[in-house]
Amino acid sequence: MMNSFPKALQIDNNTSWQQLLSHTINDPEQLIKLLELPHDYLQGAQTGDAEFSLKVPTPYLNKIKKGDINDPLLRQILPIEAEAQQIPGYVTDPLAEMSANHHEGLIHKYKGRVLIILTGACAINCRYCFRRHFPYQENKLGPKQWQQVLKYLNDDESISEVIFSGGDPLATSDNRLAQMITDLEKIPHLTRLRIHTRLPIVLPQRITPEFTSILENSRFDTVMVLHA
Ligand code: SF4
Repeated sequence: MMNSFPKALQIDNNTSWQQLLSHTINDPEQLIKLLELPHDYLQGAQTGDAEFSLKVPTPYLNKIKKGDINDPLLRQILPIEAEAQQIPGYVTDPLAEMSANHHEGLIHKYKGRVLIILTGACAINCRYCFRRHFPYQENKLGPKQWQQVLKYLNDDESISEVIFSGGDPLATSDNRLAQMITDLEKIPHLTRLRIHTRLPIVLPQRITPEFTSILENSRFDTVMVLHA
């Protein structure tokens, strides 16, 4: 039986980042076909995909050289059989984040700095991701959990820096980001906001004038940490 894949997204100047985010390539067979890779890689890609699903946005896909199994951009996203191997000493929480996950959506590991898991969503699934096993389902940041995070930050005057992380914090809407930043700005001892993101690299359309104006208008020192 022939496989029918979703139609490839045609990108032009009017394609929004939200459209690009919702039209990713998720099927290893489609990836191999689109990139004209040897069919021998399919089984391994399906095995790796079962461990951690394939996800590639079109702007990133378009930069991969067709037919080149060693293209470094491809190797960041191509699932492989070795991902299913059992390796002694391998741990699912390599940065020991679970012991610092004091509240849903919050990791407080270092003095003065708190990391917030805004969302579990990413535009791309990187094969080396250190959060591939992170329990995002137990860290959903709904309105109630957000109020608890704000209270936590309010109560600890030693905290001066907040990191927006995920998943990818820029997978969330500008409205939500703006509201969260406004809430944080009411806490006087917070001075710096860091945004850890891979989206500008894999889906540059995400950097909208609305987003940059949110940062320009914030009272925080803002730092973008790009994951490249
Ligand atoms: S973008 Fe970051 S969080 Fe998302 S899969 Fe890649 S490394 Fe992991």
